[in-house]
Amino acid sequence: MIADIIINTTAKQVQQTFSYTVPDSLPVQVGSRVLVPFGRRCEEGIVIALSRENSRTFSFTLKSIIDVLSVQHGFQEEMVRTALWIRDYYLCNAAEALRLFMVEKKGVRCQRRIVGGTLHGAAAVDEQIYTAVVHAGAVSRKVLETRFGAAAVARLLQNGTLQEQKVWKNTISDKMEEWLQIVPAVDTTVLKRRPKQRELWEFLVRKGECSLTELRENGFSRDVARRMAADGLLVIQKKMRETTGAGPVTLSSLPWKLTAEQLAAISAVQQDTEGRTYVLHGVTGSGKTEVYMQLAAQVIRAGKQVLVLVPEIALTGQIVRRFSARFGEDVVVMHSQLSQGERQANWLRMKEGGCHICIGARSAVFTGVRNLGLIIVDECHDGSYKQEETPRYHAIEVARTRAAYYKCPVILGSATPSVREYYLAEKGIYTLLELKYRVQGRPLPSVQVVDMREEFQRGRYEVLSPTLVELVEHTLQAGNQTIILLNRRGFSTFVMCRSCGFVVKCNTCDVPMVYHKDQELLRCHYCEARREIPKTCPACGSPYIKFFGTGTEKAAAELHDIFPAARVIRLDQDTTRRKNGGDRIIEAFRRGDYDILLGTQMVAKGHDFMQVTAVGILAADSLLNLPNYLAAERTFQLLTQAAGRAGRGALPGRVVMQTYAPEHYVVQYAKQQDFKGFYKEELAYRKTFLYPPFHQLIRILFQDEQETQVWKSAHTIASLLRSYVEEQGDAVEIIGPFVDAVKKVRNKYRAVILLKGADLTAIKKRIQQSSACFQKGIIIDVDPAW
Ligand code: ADP
Ligand code: ZN
Ligand code: ZN
Repeated sequence: MIADIIINTTAKQVQQTFSYTVPDSLPVQVGSRVLVPFGRRCEEGIVIALSRENSRTFSFTLKSIIDVLSVQHGFQEEMVRTALWIRDYYLCNAAEALRLFMVEKKGVRCQRRIVGGTLHGAAAVDEQIYTAVVHAGAVSRKVLETRFGAAAVARLLQNGTLQEQKVWKNTISDKMEEWLQIVPAVDTTVLKRRPKQRELWEFLVRKGECSLTELRENGFSRDVARRMAADGLLVIQKKMRETTGAGPVTLSSLPWKLTAEQLAAISAVQQDTEGRTYVLHGVTGSGKTEVYMQLAAQVIRAGKQVLVLVPEIALTGQIVRRFSARFGEDVVVMHSQLSQGERQANWLRMKEGGCHICIGARSAVFTGVRNLGLIIVDECHDGSYKQEETPRYHAIEVARTRAAYYKCPVILGSATPSVREYYLAEKGIYTLLELKYRVQGRPLPSVQVVDMREEFQRGRYEVLSPTLVELVEHTLQAGNQTIILLNRRGFSTFVMCRSCGFVVKCNTCDVPMVYHKDQELLRCHYCEARREIPKTCPACGSPYIKFFGTGTEKAAAELHDIFPAARVIRLDQDTTRRKNGGDRIIEAFRRGDYDILLGTQMVAKGHDFMQVTAVGILAADSLLNLPNYLAAERTFQLLTQAAGRAGRGALPGRVVMQTYAPEHYVVQYAKQQDFKGFYKEELAYRKTFLYPPFHQLIRILFQDEQETQVWKSAHTIASLLRSYVEEQGDAVEIIGPFVDAVKKVRNKYRAVILLKGADLTAIKKRIQQSSACFQKGIIIDVDPAW
């Protein structure tokens, strides 16, 4: 057999496929992680295809695969296929795409060790070192150097007294366990006089074979087994550990009796045999999670597995608790804050079928599976499903690709699906499922819009309008809870000199620095650089430095002044840095330890708080001015989701939205909680300007410390693509290069080219073939989220 292999390295120059022969003795399959000779090294390779030896000819002799690194960590064929799809769709390297599926990113590590050569010279110290090494067999260079000094070691390596060797260490080897097997038809008369051995023999005859662990559990000693093995009465073998089955499903939290709408949604998916994608459009509090859980239960009964994706780690806690209450041990969690060991154990449990439900954030879409039956993407509109570093995949698209292989359904649940997803459902490419009402007939909250321009004219400069203050006061008196959303962290958003207008910017990024009062510092939100607050203007020396704009810290301070007795907790990136920080804050608020939860978009994400009856939204229009075709959609989603946190329990909810653009269609539709109205208007806009879902986008970002270099390389690529489009008559618009919305980040200047067209397949192929597009400093973003 001949194996086509991708070397597991992100080095750009080794991205092609290499062929090797497969020794008959090795269990190599598509997806195997293997050790291969590569140049003067050994490397890890992933087998992406196998073919018969006589089907191809080579002008050179192929090298042979050395070993299989691990069967457990090997890929399923489906994973290989999905990874290659990611490479072709998102235009990244094959190895980069394959590594998404690995918990342990590198399968082999090179170790340098020192062994003895021939003793030269007669210095006592040389002999001492030589003897030490020869006695030990092999020593790491570091150890030797610390003991005897780097110079001596170098000298002895030079004259051949010592030699350096490279060894390749397998870091993903399988977890093997020792197993006992009886040897049939041996003379057992000796056992008559050895009661302990006879007992074990009889046990093994009954069981056939057993692991050493099991042996101990049954009260036999390991030594007895070893002695019998020495006498040839049984064999001790190493074997892969088998994962135990899922165990009985415990229904500790009983399912609800479904509403008619929930039932209709479930039976639609239940009848699916082709693996369609469903948009579950359900208003906030309509019982989507219950639909997920009952569908999951059916999938598990059929012996298959479920992947559940949620927006952020801070949110996994809540949904994990709900799933765990119902499915007990049959749930594992995957997220970046787990230790390497935990992640690996969970990943393997899923891959080997020892567990049926895996819940996690974006990267959980790459969890190994044995037999996939359903993928759920909760709050599918959320921006965190798009990875903002290479490979820049979208988890929904990856989920759909994996599901297509298993012919299993994908459910995209949200109260505010993205325009694209809803459009595809409307066109019948996806299937639309609707939950129009909140469970138990609870009403949606009533929303009041406050025009902050009027407040300003009345001479009110406070962050909280009187209307909102009154709502909070009322809620506090009733003993209920309030959520306040302000999508900017820090205290003030920029610092300006009143004499000359100078704005304090980051040294390495072209953005204003944000004042953080907690730390009495200015911070850059792009590179996290910090600096002291200047006492006088760095430009003109004037002492009139002033802070402008409002962040969560300032809003918290104002709340404190107005309601000194209220217990306020802040939820933003600054307060959730510690492990489980977000989860801890959310749970403390749920328990009622606080009256007011104030924070960035994190407060608006899917939480189910029963005691929240009031929601205040400050600066409802803050996202509208972003230079991004998704600005309106993102704002609508944020406002509707935030409002939807109110009135989920028995008590009705009230929402106050403060804005400088009350007449904007986004604010108006959010006020009415009218998704369809918003969708229609937004879709018309997208159609006029040929944005997604009508046209596809590719964004190519160029970065370099030299401004001239950025433009040079951007113009080169732009003309390369333009001439291709002209030659082929491909209907693709190439816009730019133009300056990025942020001109410079971390000392690198930024320029952008945008490709726009109804079908970008052909030009993608062209890009993939052009090494010029894969130079350092060029980032290709297919379906950019901005
Ligand atoms: P969503 O995910 O759509 O926001 P949830 O699934 O969180 O909604 O449901 C909102 C609340 O209603 C939850 O507390 C849930 O336990 C409850 N619930 C869900 N389905 C039902 C039902 N059929 N009958 C009664 N209560 C339900
Ligand atoms: Zn100044
Ligand atoms: Zn910066």
